[in-house]
Amino acid sequence: MRRKIVAGNWKMNNDLKETIDLINDLKQNLGNVDVKVLIAPSFPFLKTAVDQVGDHSIEVISQNINDNKSGAFTGEVSIDMLKSIGINTTLIGHSERRAIYNEDDVLLFKKINIALKSNMDIIFCFGEELKDRKSNSHFDVVKSQLDNTVMKLESSSWKNIVLAYEPVWAIGTGETASAEQAQEIHEFVRNYISEKFNSEVADNISILYGGSVKPSNAVEIFDKKDVDGGLIGGAALKAHDFIEIIKANS
Ligand code: PEP
Repeated sequence: MRRKIVAGNWKMNNDLKETIDLINDLKQNLGNVDVKVLIAPSFPFLKTAVDQVGDHSIEVISQNINDNKSGAFTGEVSIDMLKSIGINTTLIGHSERRAIYNEDDVLLFKKINIALKSNMDIIFCFGEELKDRKSNSHFDVVKSQLDNTVMKLESSSWKNIVLAYEPVWAIGTGETASAEQAQEIHEFVRNYISEKFNSEVADNISILYGGSVKPSNAVEIFDKKDVDGGLIGGAALKAHDFIEIIKANS
């Protein structure tokens, strides 16, 4: 049975106090929900975030990892460092990493492999750009992003993976894919996983949708049968909105 998940990607937002305040607000107001809740603060505050969350079920995750174990990589953060402060899950392949920092499928596959080897779970992000959708090549683009990365893994690795479909044209733009557009890609991806691996892997994989999810559109999107939750950017910075979105997935 796959898990329902809502993950908040705080990106390069919130200073130390804002990070602590937001976590406290979430802890006080979330209540009992039947959804796995993840938050991804920025690197300097991860340890504080882990301590602040304490024994609450919210999981603190990383926005990124380096593809090397250790060494002369100025400004980078390794998996071992993250694991040493209690971080066991990371995003890989967010569209901002792909577009701004030129992370291509080859590098992303290296990151996936080193993460899995180090027992770190992954939320792997993929999704087409606006030009791809306009030229009706969005299925091909998504297929290729998966073929070059997660589709090359053994089926046993899939228990450590969550997928996040994030059409680039809907991220931070206020423009959301319709629930039907999200469902169409999610179903396509699940069927493709079933074809490449088996129906058990496909049934068990959580596929999140990301791209301008708000309290006002979350229910409709999460109601779709192949949408197992969301990866939330802007709306995850406000406790009230993030909690509304989480509850929409309950
Ligand atoms: C994201 O960055 O993963 C994202 C979905 O952002 P937003 O919700 O702001 O579109």
